Amino acid sequence: MTRFRRIATEEAFATPEQLALLSEVTRNDDSADAPFWQMMTSGTNPFANRVARQLADIESERLPAMDAFGVDMHVLALTSPGVQMFETGVAADMAARTNDLLADICKRHPTRFAALATIAPQDPAAAAREIERACTTLGLNGVMVNSHTNDEYLDDAKFWPILEAAAALGKPIYIHPRAPSRGMAAPYMQYGLANAIWGYGAETGLHGVRLIMSGVFDRFPNLRIVLGHMGEGLPFWQWRLDYMYTNGSAPRLSLTPGEYMRRNMAITTSGMNWDKVLGFCIDAVGIDNIMWAVDYPYQEHPSAVDFMDAVELPDADKAKLYHGNAERIFGIAPLT
Ligand code: MN
Repeated sequence: MTRFRRIATEEAFATPEQLALLSEVTRNDDSADAPFWQMMTSGTNPFANRVARQLADIESERLPAMDAFGVDMHVLALTSPGVQMFETGVAADMAARTNDLLADICKRHPTRFAALATIAPQDPAAAAREIERACTTLGLNGVMVNSHTNDEYLDDAKFWPILEAAAALGKPIYIHPRAPSRGMAAPYMQYGLANAIWGYGAETGLHGVRLIMSGVFDRFPNLRIVLGHMGEGLPFWQWRLDYMYTNGSAPRLSLTPGEYMRRNMAITTSGMNWDKVLGFCIDAVGIDNIMWAVDYPYQEHPSAVDFMDAVELPDADKAKLYHGNAERIFGIAPLT
C-alpha cells in the first residue's frame, strides 16, 4: 500500500492559562459551553483528565502517538472556544501569547506541526491586525474561529475586518464548533445535546449557512472558510439549499449556495470516519475541497488512519485528502 504523507488538519492544543480561565469564567455562566468546561476542568472525570493532559502536551505524548500511527503532521489550533469567552483585552493578549507559542512549536518541529492563529473576535480591528502578524511575521497557516463570539456570527458587518484580513493574505478561516449560542441553546440543554453529538454541528452548520446567505463571499471572493466534521451537514443539504434559495424569489447572490461551497469553502473529515459520507462529500463539494483530520485528542489517531487507509480511491485522490489539499490551502511546504 502506498505510504502517504498524513497531515491532520483539526488538532487541538491548550495552554494552562486558557484552561484555568475557562474553568473560572464558566463557573457561574449560563452559556451552553459551561457544563462541558466545568466537567473538563473538574479533575474528577477520567475522560476529561486524559484529554486535558493531552491537549497541553506536544513532545512527551503527542509526537510519540503521531509516530505510532504514521501521522506526519498536526495542524494545531487552540482548543475551542479559544479565547472567545474571555474579556476583550484579556482575550487579545492571550491570543497573541498563544500565537507566539504556536510559532515556537512550529519552529522547533517544522515538519511535524503547522498552526492556525488564535484571535479575539471581540475586538475585530485588533483581531485583523493579529491575523496579519500571525500569518506574516510568525508564519502561521490560517486562522481558527470557534463559531459564535458572544452569540454573534462572522457575517455581521462588525467582523468584516477579520474576513478582509484573511482574504487579503490568502489564508483560510477554520470555523470550529462550540456549543450553540444563547438564542438557540435552550432545546440543546437536555440529554447532553449541546456538545459534539449534535449541538456543535447545528451551531457551526448554521454559521456556515449564514456566511453563504449573507453575501460575504460576494464581498470577499477570495475568502476561504474551512468546516470540520464533513462540512457540518452543509454538503447533505446542498441540493435543498440551492432549491430553496431560488424557489419563488430572484437570486440575491451572484452564485448558488452550492457554488459558494465549492469556490469558497473546504471541509475536513475530523471526527467523522465514515467512508459512505466521504464518498458523498467528494461528489457534493469536490475532491480538491476535502482534507483529512483526526480531532485529537478528543478523538483518536487509529480510527482516523484506518478509515482513510481503507477508502477505495485512486492514489492521486487519496494523496489530495491526506496532504495535497492541506499543503495548498494552508500553505504547508510539500515534501521534496
Ligand atoms: Mn475539533
